[in-house]
Amino acid sequence: MELVNIRGLNFANVTMDEAITEAESLINSNCTNLVFTPNAEIAYKASHDKDFENLLNSASLLLPDGAGCLKAAKIIGTPIKEKVAGVVFGERLAELASKNGYSLFLLGGKPGIAEKAANELAFKYSGLNIVGTNDGYFNKENDESCSVIDKINASNADIVYVCLGAPTQEIWASKNKNNFKNAKIVACLGGSLDIYSKTSKRAPSFFIKTNTEWLYRLIKEPWRLKRMMSLPKYIVETRKFAKSK
Ligand code: UDP
Repeated sequence: MELVNIRGLNFANVTMDEAITEAESLINSNCTNLVFTPNAEIAYKASHDKDFENLLNSASLLLPDGAGCLKAAKIIGTPIKEKVAGVVFGERLAELASKNGYSLFLLGGKPGIAEKAANELAFKYSGLNIVGTNDGYFNKENDESCSVIDKINASNADIVYVCLGAPTQEIWASKNKNNFKNAKIVACLGGSLDIYSKTSKRAPSFFIKTNTEWLYRLIKEPWRLKRMMSLPKYIVETRKFAKSK
């Protein structure tokens, strides 16, 4: 698998199909593999925080989820094949799991959301074996976190979706990487359970096709503005970085 270094982050240069093929080989490995899907907001954070950059680079698969990452790759002259949205990757992996008999654990969201997402996914992908769910509102630092890990391990899930929002989910998954006993893939997928459970809607296809999904999110959730300002900052800094080379 080819990697493209975008200002310190080693993104996989893959199409969605290739990302799923990579995931399949990770499931057949004998260790726990982290899958992260950073967008430009998270890439911006990593560009100002070396420890966080290293944490993201410890993933077996780092997938570029967002127009900003694609744009940055282009600016520095190493374009990447396509955006691999975490929410779509999670659906495709669930489909693969239903075909190949891999088991899945869903962690995250408000109480009841993970169960609802499990029902919807199991309805959509017949035979999908969802072996456990848990909400995401537990203390990430104390015994509550250990209980969640115990629950995941007791379920024997092959794949775990960790949907706690970024960067909480990446930090939690990375901190606990060695505590997972059976899981071969621990994929951090942001607000995906809200989408699978039909609690939130993904942007209409116009926004997805024109790479302006961020704009739709901003219209729907204006409180994101402050957070989203890191997107233009990331692009401006990337332009400066490219010029200085
Ligand atoms: N969430 C959670 N535990 C927390 C904080 C957030 O499970 O302690 C969930 C929240 O309910 C939502 C998701 O994490 O389902 C964050 O979604 P968002 O779309 O904001 O993801 P991001 O853009 O941060 O990746």
